[in-house]
Amino acid sequence: MTLRFNLETPGGPQLNTINRFSGWYIPDHGRRPELYVACNGKRAASLEWGSVRPDVSSVYSTHSQAIISGFQGDLLMGEQEQAQAVEVVVLDAAGQDRELFRRTYAVGPYRPPVIRDRSFNLFELLVCPECRSPLAKQDQGWMCPRCARLVPLKGGVPHFLQEQGTPCLHVTEQTNTHPYSADVLDILGRHRAGLVLDFGAGHTPKELLRPHVVYLDAVQYEWTDLVCTRARLPFRDHTFDAVVSQAVFEHLEDPHYTARELCRILRPGGIIHLDTAFMQPLHGDPWHFFNMTQHGLRKVMAPFEEIRCGIKSYQHPSASLLMQFDAIAPFITSRKWRNTIAKWRKELEAGAGEFDDALGEAGRTTLAAGFFFEGRRPQ
Ligand SMILES: [Zn+2]
Repeated sequence: MTLRFNLETPGGPQLNTINRFSGWYIPDHGRRPELYVACNGKRAASLEWGSVRPDVSSVYSTHSQAIISGFQGDLLMGEQEQAQAVEVVVLDAAGQDRELFRRTYAVGPYRPPVIRDRSFNLFELLVCPECRSPLAKQDQGWMCPRCARLVPLKGGVPHFLQEQGTPCLHVTEQTNTHPYSADVLDILGRHRAGLVLDFGAGHTPKELLRPHVVYLDAVQYEWTDLVCTRARLPFRDHTFDAVVSQAVFEHLEDPHYTARELCRILRPGGIIHLDTAFMQPLHGDPWHFFNMTQHGLRKVMAPFEEIRCGIKSYQHPSASLLMQFDAIAPFITSRKWRNTIAKWRKELEAGAGEFDDALGEAGRTTLAAGFFFEGRRPQ
């Protein structure tokens, strides 16, 4: 059996402080691959598999997984590894740790990460997510003295991961993953003297960074303050004046539990503002679990007093349908249907406002791309 795997980056014989690993892989075991990079025998970074690769599927047209065979993730090298040789192996945990690639690289000089302005000391906000004890600083990372749980640091960023989790880094990602709505910008502006949590911040461009905002995500982007994939959040009670969260709740395994956790870490009277998906196609596969109706979102947000709940203009049905056309387009094998979808998409985009108006309020609620909720932690 030939191995259908290709590593496109990094090229060359040397690794730097930040390295993007990308390429494509078509597994022969039929399951969804779980790729990770091991350095000198230790798990160092997981790679996200499943991005669309029409170029690969045009060559391997008989393999149904070829169209989503792309993978990427970043590997950070620490100060200890500079001027050393490291043996890098890429493995597939879903295929009994099958080895896909092995090479020894030289490591170049270490470049410490740039630290942005912060109005807070992150370490002082944090506790052990399991027992809520203060953490202790150790050489290998931060540690809960009571549970003996180690919190690894990657470029100074703590990773609070589920059991057997491997850090996932996308520090080379440069697209703004979810632009702030006007309401979110307003909340950030109103709480300049306080502390705000951006829960599921994604990649925030440098000009949008604020010193009083804590950027949390499941993946480490360039400006992420902490990574957390655990349901229990590693913050003390009453830490934040506001929490904002855009396009995150559909990716949570237990949104009800997370809503209670966000309520716990808000101060009494603190504000929460979030939006989440309703009529949206699968995205962030396999980390996309629950799309919500407006009724469902209100149930999830039951720990809060509702201020307002509804649809924003970017959540109108035209946005939903455009997303659906874009999501299915790469998978359509029939030329006739591809052309039809392209025509519908063009017409809808040109008349989006008119289309949404024509649906009326009931139609817009039935087909919304998502809903938002703004609430307050009860006193
Ligand atoms: Zn603990």
